[in-house]
Amino acid sequence: MNIEHQGIGMTSQRSRNRLVEQLRTMGIQSELILDAIKNTPRHLFIDEALASRAYDNTALPIGFNQTISQPYIVARMTEALIAGGKPLKKVLEIGTGCGYQTVVLARFAEQVYTIERIQGLLSRARERFYSLKCRNIKAMNSDGNLGWPEQAPFDGILVTAAPVGVPAQLLEQLAVDGRLVIPVGTAGAQKLLLLTRTEDGISEKYLDAVSFVPMLGGTN
Ligand code: SAH
Repeated sequence: MNIEHQGIGMTSQRSRNRLVEQLRTMGIQSELILDAIKNTPRHLFIDEALASRAYDNTALPIGFNQTISQPYIVARMTEALIAGGKPLKKVLEIGTGCGYQTVVLARFAEQVYTIERIQGLLSRARERFYSLKCRNIKAMNSDGNLGWPEQAPFDGILVTAAPVGVPAQLLEQLAVDGRLVIPVGTAGAQKLLLLTRTEDGISEKYLDAVSFVPMLGGTN
């Protein structure tokens, strides 16, 4: 790993270890997930002025009125997505943002498809995928409510912005045994859900109370 990816001072290994211990205390059990958080350079996904807070367990601004998700939430969602135990071939992410969650996901899936409605965020995220040599990520500027029908079905779908209800197209693009992790609801009353497609329908599990930016329509 080169020095930029390793980080210095507050972005160092010590602050990463501290973050991982916090996540463990909060209930993240998968060592695979904890390792992924430890080894993903979160300081490269935010503005340099905020780098000293990169390994704090908080959401941070990334411009365009959006935020990079809290590491605990990234860990929790990814853990829920991989907990089916089957290898994930195709995973779809809605809400690329700065690309941090995408890069964490890319460690667990053969191919990640990610959709972001704000072009300015997407082009910066793409540069990060390139410089981190994440070659199994395809990114598109589109409205995530529609999913990515040409690539469906997906073994997993992870949504990082909150719609008021589960978009029908995303459910339709879920493979049998596929898992959809999604925050649903309006500001102040969102719940994180795990929906699993079974042979005869959809099963639903409540995971957490959460606070995401709203999922909007169209592109920008
Ligand atoms: N996973 C991101 C979280 C970014 S915040 C990260 O860690 O950085 C949520 C993102 O969802 C924002 O970038 C927002 O622009 C995007 N978003 C909101 N509605 C969307 C939609 N309909 N389609 C695609 N992206 C959307």
